[in-house]
Amino acid sequence: MSYVSETLEQLIAKNPGEAEFHQAAREVLESLEPVIDANPAYRKNAILERITEPDRQIMFRVPWIDDKGVAHVNRGFRVQFNNAIGPYKGGLRLHPSVTLGTIKFLGFEQIFKNSLTGLPIGGGKGGSDFDPKGKSDREVFEFCRSFMTELYKYIGADVDVPAGDIGTGAREIGFMYGTYKKITGLYEGVLTGKGLTYGGSLARTEATGYGLLYLTQAMLEAHGQSLKGKTAAISGAGNVAIYAAEKATALGAKVVTMSDSNGWIYDKDGIDLAAVKEIKEVKRARLTEYKNYRPKSEYSASGHVWQVKCDVALPCATQNELNLDDAKALVKNKCTAVAEGANMPTTAEATEYLIKNGILFAPGKAANAGGVATSALEMSQNSQRLNWTFEEVDTRLHGIMVNIYRQAAAAAEKYGHKDNLVVGANIAGFTKVADAMLAQGIQ
Ligand code: NDP
Repeated sequence: MSYVSETLEQLIAKNPGEAEFHQAAREVLESLEPVIDANPAYRKNAILERITEPDRQIMFRVPWIDDKGVAHVNRGFRVQFNNAIGPYKGGLRLHPSVTLGTIKFLGFEQIFKNSLTGLPIGGGKGGSDFDPKGKSDREVFEFCRSFMTELYKYIGADVDVPAGDIGTGAREIGFMYGTYKKITGLYEGVLTGKGLTYGGSLARTEATGYGLLYLTQAMLEAHGQSLKGKTAAISGAGNVAIYAAEKATALGAKVVTMSDSNGWIYDKDGIDLAAVKEIKEVKRARLTEYKNYRPKSEYSASGHVWQVKCDVALPCATQNELNLDDAKALVKNKCTAVAEGANMPTTAEATEYLIKNGILFAPGKAANAGGVATSALEMSQNSQRLNWTFEEVDTRLHGIMVNIYRQAAAAAEKYGHKDNLVVGANIAGFTKVADAMLAQGIQ
């Protein structure tokens, strides 16, 4: 049995019931076969066993009291996966579906994504099964305060620097930062995604969505194409989706779909992003309201946005939201590129089908790395006690995304998988971390 198969078998036996973690580990490890075969030192030093076992997994009780005086208990998580190349870095997801397996899948992916950015950040992830939806600001504050009252023990500007993710936006980061500062007395860059008045970076809000489009553009250009005049389908209507839509439009594409967890909108004349921003960012409401702004648009509560004819598909909502049927529809409709804004939004079979059918495919760990890269730029600014301009951050982000594309494409070609960015991104991300682990001894 190969080293990769052996490691996967052990991982599944040791982590029962963590299907998403198994899926992510399989996807990464199987694509590493060529580089593992070429470097016997990895097996000798148990690199795969070590890289798939988090440094530590922290789970804790998060009690809080709602507006009616009723007490609730959620579960908090922080998985510190790997700090071979820098302090742990990765977001906090607040969503009822969150389990330890979800956080481990995200934390594992984060190791390679962070490595690809070229910046000195290790991999981690955290969150809770708390649902901020429908809660008052006071209830969200209560939760965030209680969550940070435990989490603060394990994080720090040079130790572990959490950030936002699904359900954790500027409001939640602000509440958590205030609590950390109050408990520790430290004014340090312990969280990223902070507000601009207290250490946040310009362009961080836009970074994941903009970065996704910078990478998509680089990928298209390398194949003699561009975004100009293309029709784009986007899923999600959160942070990533909104700024992906904004940059796609700026680069000359027409975005015709967006979605939330209840349904999706189709606007053949191009999505009115100001309307989506008002519905989602200001009113915190549902996309059903979009019809009030654009009566000719269509709303659907079933199916996926991928059934719509498009040239470029950008899944920006959540994991496993683009399945094999969706992939078949995209191929049938002559879509030319799929780039993942969300983490693992495309199922394994769908990814395989898309690549087999010649669709340019950019995996999340390369395509959505702009968020964490800009978070690392926020850390740099905090350490320097300086704020860079929007243009400075955006220019660096653009350079980082083009470089990620080039690294992934070069690694794919070097190991005999030309144009396969899934393989290329995994190999390029893995090699740097694995070599740092080798240099630091068996720890
Ligand atoms: P947000 O919470 O801002 O938005 C998420 C969007 O996806 C919302 O429109 C939400 O709908 C929808 N959604 C969430 N869960 C589901 C579900 N189970 N089914 C259908 N729709 C769903 O999150 P982000 O935009 O920050 O994150 C989106 C994805 O991008 C995630 O995979 C995240 O891990 C990834 N990512 C985010 C980064 C960032 O910087 N924010 C960086 C890198 C990756 P609703 O409004 O109904 O909740």
